[in-house]
Amino acid sequence: MKIGCPKEIKPQEFRVGLTPAATAEAVLRGHEVIIETEAGTGSGFTDEDYIAVGARIAGTAKDVFEQAEMIVKVKEPQPIERKMLREGQLLFTYLHLAPDRAQTEDLLASGVTSIAYETVTDSRGGLPLLAPMSEVAGRLAPQVGSWALQKANGGRGVLMGGVPGVRPANVVIIGGGVVGAAAARVAVGMGANVTVMDRSVPRLSYLDDVFMGKLTTQYANAATTAELIQTADMVIGAVLVPGAAAPKLITREQLSTMHPGAVLVDVAIDQGGCFETSRATTHQDPIYEVEGVVHYCVANMPGAVARTSTQALGNATQPFLLALADKGWRQAISDDPHLRAGLSTHQGKLTSLPVGEALGIDA
Ligand code: NAD
Repeated sequence: MKIGCPKEIKPQEFRVGLTPAATAEAVLRGHEVIIETEAGTGSGFTDEDYIAVGARIAGTAKDVFEQAEMIVKVKEPQPIERKMLREGQLLFTYLHLAPDRAQTEDLLASGVTSIAYETVTDSRGGLPLLAPMSEVAGRLAPQVGSWALQKANGGRGVLMGGVPGVRPANVVIIGGGVVGAAAARVAVGMGANVTVMDRSVPRLSYLDDVFMGKLTTQYANAATTAELIQTADMVIGAVLVPGAAAPKLITREQLSTMHPGAVLVDVAIDQGGCFETSRATTHQDPIYEVEGVVHYCVANMPGAVARTSTQALGNATQPFLLALADKGWRQAISDDPHLRAGLSTHQGKLTSLPVGEALGIDA
């Protein structure tokens, strides 16, 4: 199959859909891979890296879209890219169609067969192509939070691990799923005093087992949250209610009960944020202050570490990508119901029920 990978054009997107490692695998199986020039630059991969494993470099995105039977990307196709998609072509990327009517209508009009990363499932009920980005954002959260805790950034000037004779930072993580567990791992590693809160007792039990006394688990409710934030140096928001906006767990009034210079890292900002005072920020201007509390609310945290994120995403997408290329999409989704869950549009028809319900389009 001819697999094409254009350079991402969404602002501040430095990831790329195909790594040289995934390209090499595809080439070894007899597929032809066409990469747009400079597509890998933001993630530290040169055109030569791709050429060395057998890819062909195309001068423009148009060349890639015209020649490829399957387009592999990271972000949803932008309007100019959507105009280049066509019936009979396969698109494999993050789509997030439910809140995006314009994109959905364009994909339907193009006739393209699209498979969304974010709705591909696994046998344990997880979302294997979302999880790597949650891992990245989770591990990054204490790292950016510790930077925000520094005096020069408006923080209260507390070192995560303390020093002998001086207590470490108190870190409260609300939501102990993929993001929360990854954040806990790094915060514990930095020497902080970590508490993880969740509404799921089995999840708290799991974390308690895995961390073997290196953190405290606490059932999440409003009273406990109100109590714990008063002594917190950093609160990391990592909750997810599938299919719904994030619940607001810290109100504006409660900020005055926190230490001045304490830090809120709202990882759930891509679902609207779980603190009342959260608003999405960018890597260029990541923090702001409300009532003396520093907020970090970057909606695409993995973009800060594009190289790691590209590699993590590439590892997760590769088996699906190869199945699609080897077997063709029809056979691949008929063999694998989890990949079938990603099918979103085909020949002008919407094939995702949740997207249909969200947008009032027949599916
Ligand atoms: P997950 O489903 O693995 O975990 C979410 C956890 O939140 C679950 O354990 C659930 O029990 C818990 N929870 C739900 N409601 C709660 C409540 N009221 N109080 C306490 N716990 C509650 O999800 P995840 O992959 O860890 O993602 C967490 C959030 O991070 C999501 O909103 C996701 O969209 C977001 N995210 C953001 C970025 C970014 O760049 N900002 C990147 C990746 C993920």
